Amino acid sequence: MTNHGKTGRILVTGAAGFLGSHLCDALLAEGHSVVGVDNFSTGKPANLAHLKRESRFELVEHDICNPFDFGTVAFVFNFASPASPVDYMRLGIETLRVGSEGTKNALEIARKYHAGFLHASTSECYGDPTVHPQPESYWGHVNPIGPRSVYDEAKRFSEALVMAYHRYHHVNTRLVRIFNTYGPRLQSSDGRVISNLMTQALHGEDLTIYGDGTQTRSFCYVSDEIDGILRLSRSSEHLPVNIGNPDEWTILECARQILDVTGSSSKIRFEPLPQDDPVQRQPNIAKAKRLLGWEPKIDLRTGLQLCLDYFRQSVERGERATPAISPPQSRASVTQQTSARH
Ligand code: NAD
Ligand code: UDP
Repeated sequence: MTNHGKTGRILVTGAAGFLGSHLCDALLAEGHSVVGVDNFSTGKPANLAHLKRESRFELVEHDICNPFDFGTVAFVFNFASPASPVDYMRLGIETLRVGSEGTKNALEIARKYHAGFLHASTSECYGDPTVHPQPESYWGHVNPIGPRSVYDEAKRFSEALVMAYHRYHHVNTRLVRIFNTYGPRLQSSDGRVISNLMTQALHGEDLTIYGDGTQTRSFCYVSDEIDGILRLSRSSEHLPVNIGNPDEWTILECARQILDVTGSSSKIRFEPLPQDDPVQRQPNIAKAKRLLGWEPKIDLRTGLQLCLDYFRQSVERGERATPAISPPQSRASVTQQTSARH
């Protein structure tokens, strides 16, 4: 039983992205009508090409930082935002805007139509965590002015905004803290670790490991993640819920799994660790288990096998991995360097 109604019309922002497109598929499979909104800054219409003839699906090109209204909806899933470090460091101001103005515009739609609302938040709210694994009660350890802050602080602000719309305007909101998720439609060129290493392995290029590879992440396969998100959307929980796979891997172990699954003889190449790269990350999912009866089913090796064909096809189209980027240098550090020279 859904609280957004079996035939409710549902709005998905960021619909042409990796998670948004899978969410649209799942909602349509449940019998809903879906209006997807996207400005195609990091997603692409090709992710939704298979829905071209689906009469219950509409796709609108729009930047949600500008106010919008595409008609009555029963539920809003707010997924619009660059998500990969390479994307959000390239699109720093846009990322801060979509977490603030864009999220406010999406909340206004939920308020206007008395619709439910679920916001895609992130494990990045915990920053470089000093509590491990991370429960929802942990307030996090974020550098508010570092290169990752355009994303981390945008998401922390958007959580505050969602809670404020809940408290002040009584909007029926949910907050999911998503941990590293992978699967088909993850852009090969988005620079995330699974995208880069799968693409490099299949091209026979060196696998780039940043730092010494001992930093950890916990990887969730997309179908598990979407299942958890849908369960949360049907619940009445307004406080944040972690949805992620608690199976924790070092990046080096993850690279070895990828070499194994792809059968590649690529070598490993160590490169500098980007600034503020979190040392460890693992969700505590006790709350999701208790409230939603959810836990992931697909382990890393199975998940990598499930997306092998997708990455093979991307590589055949000539798509390539993307190296880490640094955001533009701050004037403060330029001044410091200048004064150090004089
Ligand atoms: P993605 O980049 O594939 O998808 C994001 C989509 O949002 C893209 O289609 C992009 O074009 C669209 N978008 C960005 N700014 C927009 C704007 N101003 N107006 C309209 N559309 C806009 O990323 P994803 O991995 O699918 O992530 C989706 C959401 O989930 C994001 O909010 C992200 O922060 C969150 N999330 C993802 C992960 C993960 O591991 N994939 C982890 C934590 C949180
Ligand atoms: N990483 C890496 N090689 C790459 C891409 C990423 O070693 O080619 C590392 C990155 O430094 C981080 C981890 O893999 O420690 C996960 O990076 P990703 O960009 O996927 O997501 P994050 O969790 O950092 O947002």
